[in-house]
Amino acid sequence: MDIHDYTDLVELDKHSQLHPFTNLSDHQQTGPLVMMRGQGTRLTDHTGKEYLDALAGLWCMNVGYGRTEIAQAVAEQIEQLSYFHSFLAMANQPSIVLADRLLQIAPEPLSRVFFGLSGSDANDTNIKIIWLYNNLLGRPQKKKLIARRGGYHGTTLATCSLSGLPHLYTGFDVPLDIDRFLLVTTPNHYRYAQPGMTELEFSAYLAEELEQLILRQGPETVAAFFAEPVMGASGVLVPPEGYFEAIVPVLRKYEVLFIADEVICGFGRLGSWFGSTHFDLAPDMMTLAKGLTSGYQPMSASLVSQEIWQVLQRAPTPFSHGFTYSSHPASAAAALANLDILESENLIERAQTVGAQLQRRLREEFTDHPLVGEVRGLGMVAGIELVANKSTKESFDPTVAAQVQVYKQMLRRGVVVRPVPNALAISPSLIFTLQEIETLVGALKESLDDVARQLASQGLLS
Ligand code: PLP
Repeated sequence: MDIHDYTDLVELDKHSQLHPFTNLSDHQQTGPLVMMRGQGTRLTDHTGKEYLDALAGLWCMNVGYGRTEIAQAVAEQIEQLSYFHSFLAMANQPSIVLADRLLQIAPEPLSRVFFGLSGSDANDTNIKIIWLYNNLLGRPQKKKLIARRGGYHGTTLATCSLSGLPHLYTGFDVPLDIDRFLLVTTPNHYRYAQPGMTELEFSAYLAEELEQLILRQGPETVAAFFAEPVMGASGVLVPPEGYFEAIVPVLRKYEVLFIADEVICGFGRLGSWFGSTHFDLAPDMMTLAKGLTSGYQPMSASLVSQEIWQVLQRAPTPFSHGFTYSSHPASAAAALANLDILESENLIERAQTVGAQLQRRLREEFTDHPLVGEVRGLGMVAGIELVANKSTKESFDPTVAAQVQVYKQMLRRGVVVRPVPNALAISPSLIFTLQEIETLVGALKESLDDVARQLASQGLLS
């Protein structure tokens, strides 16, 4: 067979692409699932099969697929100025307007915006800015970064090292072998609270753990704490009650910067503009990507506080950091059109009401399911943790990958969710309807029942 036959995309893909987060040898056997069209919340694959996308791409298509307003804005921008760089004080109109609009909706201390292309590079930028900031302040020792086990901040060398998901490290010689990346306990009450501990007590315990770590390392060596307001990739973890109220004073006490990684939470996912807005946080830096353009163009943003900005200006040398595509005008045009849609269609408010229904229905249907340990989430993001034993909370052996079995069943039923370690993640577009929630719930019910039956027959579910 001629593999260069462009009608056989599956075969061609097997011979041409190296896929991210993919079992490479399995892909050589099974090939890809090729998506051809997207409209609203619906996808169509190369065989013509339709899917309801309950993950919004990769937690990013906040306004849904196929928006002509965004397509037109990008096309007009490309016709007017397809590209120019932003090095050496060069600028373009849409990125200037976008930076201003972001600062208008971002929490108070944030005062400057640096544009990149992905959540990973934005967090990399943040790390470099933090190190530069402390160098400029004459604190060259203050460089260590604290994050949480289970946290996800990207896959570059530094952001992977900052992330607390061991499967990201395997075989890649990360975390980087430098004494700058520290992890604390995941704020997961279901898994890590001592029996009988309330959420408030667990939050106090986590704040104490953080303080002890800072004291052990020496506060003069600890620069920053990174946190997703709601953790995504580790199975959608909403912090326990009082978590940020307990953590933030510890950070302030030891002059440890607080970085809110809003790559998933930003732009309405939790029913407010940002996770920081929802939890009433005033971060020193904020990481934005995904919902910034609803995935229509690659773009990320690092927002820095007035205090950091003032210190950066003291640098005797230029800020020698940036990417060819920083402040890309077509991406900025997409982001502006995306913000217009979020505002004109009241999608943030909608995420509150539809999100409340999503949370209610998932809990109603699945809290008591034998395969389900916990149903959790906030607004338009939810996680369903799967367990081998509901009463002991025992997880499945990783080789069982129950979440992948459910994910495959869901695909078969035409609904896209995401398997993450021990859990299923749900994160639909903010235009998801009540009817679509019921379609999702119905497919989940059948899929969880099927997988539970199979696992029970193999003696793997008690
Ligand atoms: N930070 C968080 C919280 C994320 O969820 C992700 C990606 O899912 C990233 C950073 C990395 O973003 P990207 O994949 O755009 O590099």
